[in-house]
Amino acid sequence: MNKRSTLKINDKGHLEIGGADAVSLAEKYGTPLYVFDEEHIRNMMRVYKKTILKEYGGNGLVLYASKAFSCKAMYKIADSEGLGVDVVSGGEFYTAMEAGFPAQKVYMHGNNKLLSELIYAVNHKIGTIVVDSYGEADVIDELAADRGITQNVLIRINPGVVAHTHEFIQTARTDSKFGFSVSDGAAKDITAYVLSKSHLRLRGYHCHIGSQIFEKQSFVLAAEKMMNFVGDIKNSIGFTADTINMGGGFGVWYTDEDPKLQLSDYAEYLKAVIDTIKKKSAEIGISEPYLLIEPGRSIVAEAGVTLYTVGAIKEIPGVRKYVSIDGGMFDNPRYALYQSKYSVLLANRATELCTEQVSIAGKCCESGDLIAVNVPLPVAKTGDILAVLTTGAYNYSMASNYNRNFVPAAVLVYKGAADYIVKPQTYEDLVRNDVVPDRLK
Ligand SMILES: *Cc1c(COP(=O)(O)O)cnc(C)c1O
Repeated sequence: MNKRSTLKINDKGHLEIGGADAVSLAEKYGTPLYVFDEEHIRNMMRVYKKTILKEYGGNGLVLYASKAFSCKAMYKIADSEGLGVDVVSGGEFYTAMEAGFPAQKVYMHGNNKLLSELIYAVNHKIGTIVVDSYGEADVIDELAADRGITQNVLIRINPGVVAHTHEFIQTARTDSKFGFSVSDGAAKDITAYVLSKSHLRLRGYHCHIGSQIFEKQSFVLAAEKMMNFVGDIKNSIGFTADTINMGGGFGVWYTDEDPKLQLSDYAEYLKAVIDTIKKKSAEIGISEPYLLIEPGRSIVAEAGVTLYTVGAIKEIPGVRKYVSIDGGMFDNPRYALYQSKYSVLLANRATELCTEQVSIAGKCCESGDLIAVNVPLPVAKTGDILAVLTTGAYNYSMASNYNRNFVPAAVLVYKGAADYIVKPQTYEDLVRNDVVPDRLK
């Protein structure tokens, strides 16, 4: 378990999350249940914020990438920590607005933002839109003109660095649905185009090189390429970016194949980026740009644990033992999507030795509905509480009602006390939008 997390095992031998006994949470709220530790979330938000303050004179803003876990309470926490947020849909922006989040501190992304989303964003005075196509630049310019305003925009560029986990590649031109490539001149052309629009105010550039990255060098390289591009644009068309957004992507611990980073490690990642930007700004001869970063996973992933109740157990002698739980791909589709690995334990018998390897199966009618394969566990019994760790990011936000199962409720734990932040669904919720046409009645 990660040292900086508040996960521990209490004297009953139960898993404890943010001071709350996981077994008591399961009894009180039922399972499956997403549990989020507020202290962990706030600590992660603070480490990035403090690093920008200490290493860069506060000349920047941390944006929580809310697609990792979006609900009203998360926008409240981000706001109370002085963060901005990024949103990738009208729905995320709506949730932020419903939470009273300041629209000026919202950045909107997307390779295919809908007209309805852009209208909604501009009407609610969204701070900045990150332009990802020519047509979008036209639409935003028109919407802004109609309203007599000038809309702040960034341009999403593709710097030619793609990173994932322990690897990164440098590519001349990247095959991606996102962003304008630097290497083929597309990023420069869109810059000139956006500058020609009288109701767009171009602030600078955005890039996001990938997710679950541990390689410091890939962030540094992206920052170098970003700043080289800023310098080229200044020299070629005389535009000086005053803002750069380096995206998210910092890695987290899922299993012992991943490093267990401490808060200071995250500060170091960011410091390396900042040092690069400072050095390059001096080289190019521009004032240091306002720095945005967009961590999502690293803020919430390890703050989240999903609790399940063990149901059927099936042993196929010589082959495998399946431990089935009351959740599955409808609350955590990441194994089904990417064969993502997770660490699991029995929350009610957390001190017992793991004596066998099992696979954790969900309850959906899909053979691929698994949460973890060949993971160590004590001999599990029906009724045990199974905890899957590091499920705070891209679990609830990717959940569905597949097989008409309920998307589980979420509780936020703070110093031992828990509150709902997402209520449980009911059968009525599942049929709320169903309509039976008259001829079928
Ligand atoms: C997904 C995403 C992020 C967050 O990435 P993490 O790996 O969760 O930190 C940030 N910015 C953009 C544009 C993204 O698409």
